[in-house]
Amino acid sequence: MDIQDLHCIVVGAGTGGLAAGALLARKGVQVTLLESQGYPGGCAGTFTSGGYRFDAGATLGCGFHKGGPMEVLGRELGISWPIKPEPVAWQYRHRDLSIDLGGSRKEILERFPRSASFWKEQSMLAELLWKLSYGGLSWPVAGPRDLAILARKAISEFPGTARLLKFAAKTAYEWLADHGLDADDEFVRFIDAQLLVSVQTTSRHANAVNAAIALDLPVSGSYRVDGGIGAISGMLADSIERDGGAVLYGKKVIRIDSIRKEVLGVETEDGDALAADLVIANLTPDSLAILDGRTPAPAGVEVTPRWGAFTLYLGIDSSLFEQPGLNHMQITAGEGELGECGSIFVSTSPVDDPSRAPEGFRAVTISTHTRPEPWFEALARGRQHYLELKELYTRRILDLLAEQIPEAPQAIRSVIAATPVTWESWTGRHHGYVGGYGQTSLFEVRSPSTAYDNLFLVGDSIFPGQSLPGVVTGARRCVELALRRYGK
Ligand SMILES: Cc1cc2nc3c(=O)[nH]c(=O)nc-3n(C[C@H](O)[C@H](O)[C@H](O)COP(=O)(O)OP(=O)(O)OC[C@H]3O[C@@H](n4cnc5c(N)ncnc54)[C@H](O)[C@@H]3O)c2cc1C
Repeated sequence: MDIQDLHCIVVGAGTGGLAAGALLARKGVQVTLLESQGYPGGCAGTFTSGGYRFDAGATLGCGFHKGGPMEVLGRELGISWPIKPEPVAWQYRHRDLSIDLGGSRKEILERFPRSASFWKEQSMLAELLWKLSYGGLSWPVAGPRDLAILARKAISEFPGTARLLKFAAKTAYEWLADHGLDADDEFVRFIDAQLLVSVQTTSRHANAVNAAIALDLPVSGSYRVDGGIGAISGMLADSIERDGGAVLYGKKVIRIDSIRKEVLGVETEDGDALAADLVIANLTPDSLAILDGRTPAPAGVEVTPRWGAFTLYLGIDSSLFEQPGLNHMQITAGEGELGECGSIFVSTSPVDDPSRAPEGFRAVTISTHTRPEPWFEALARGRQHYLELKELYTRRILDLLAEQIPEAPQAIRSVIAATPVTWESWTGRHHGYVGGYGQTSLFEVRSPSTAYDNLFLVGDSIFPGQSLPGVVTGARRCVELALRRYGK
């Protein structure tokens, strides 16, 4: 079959689905993307409420540096992203400790001078990993062709790749111990806070290789997106349409039709049935199982249980965040676990982006990791239980914010809260699981392939996991495997 005759349906306009759709449309495939909401972006969408434009989940643009997955994608699709570098990626706050994370490690080394050898090794590993991932990652391996590609890359980057193998079987905590840093509780908490938001688990479980690239994010560059992070999805949707595809909103897919190992098409809630040669599902495996008439895997069977998010959207007086160029802050509580309000990530719309808030105000998104199960259990016990839990989490987050910024309570003008129950209805992600998988192993990762020959997964449930650059790297792999099936 000629590539121009191939008809692909993409289910979901998250960053992964849009990137896969845009890459396929650019290659000439006929792409129809079906999105249940009225706008694109999913976890990296931006929504309007009360005159504000709030980023729903993702707030920090990364992977836009030269050679990074977002920069390469933009170049390939002819998109000029509406981004500006953030002078400070984010500020880390813990008790009286305040560190600006960014292009230089200067502040970190001043506070933790014994960590110099660790950061040297981390930089070396990250540089190698960015090089190896350039142009996509043939992982997990799906046949001899992938092995050959990997071998070629490994040989060209030898002996770095040989050194990498030493880290592949280690946890980040063991790596810290190699540098005598495991007993420094303040340093471990600093590292854990960064790992939780990037690899969805802390140093005792995180794989060292995943940790090396995650800890590089502030250094490789972080960017603000004019209009909010959802602008990225809007531009990817436009790219699909420019290349002859269609992006249809308000189209919720409720069933995948199949015969034996072949998917025939999909059915939508409003009664349409669309045939396809190829289907790409921008869904979690659980959500896909439901569309396929199967039961999702029970919760709690994973080594590292999955997270949901509790998020607050605040309208605040513009004067609250005064340090120029500081739009993101991570605050950790004095002690205790980092999830369930023990750490929060606070992002404010840039003071000079009038599209995000009424004059004199800013749109703030605050998130914390939470296990979804208690939220659904509370709801099952009754709406009042659920609302009480929501109130409790709101109060705990606002208290932690006030601990670091005492003027915050007086500056807040409006508050909206979203729980995993809300996230499930926003994104169609079963049980409101967000952030992909805990990156504990390089070997137990999910490939885009499914039980069907012509159905592929994309998004943060597949390797290499969450974040805009993560899902775009996964989308490239998804497209590669999908087209390989047609001999392209
Ligand atoms: C609180 C939070 C903060 C984050 N912070 C950052 C950050 O600062 N930087 C960063 O890079 N990443 C961040 N991330 C991670 C990043 O947002 C995600 O990894 C990424 O956006 C997930 O994209 P995805 O392709 O998996 O699709 P999703 O975002 O899951 O989107 C899936 C889409 O499919 C649609 N859909 C679902 N079911 C159906 C159906 N049946 N029919 C039709 N459409 C359907 C949904 O409506 C949705 O639009 C954050 C995530 C969260 C939750």
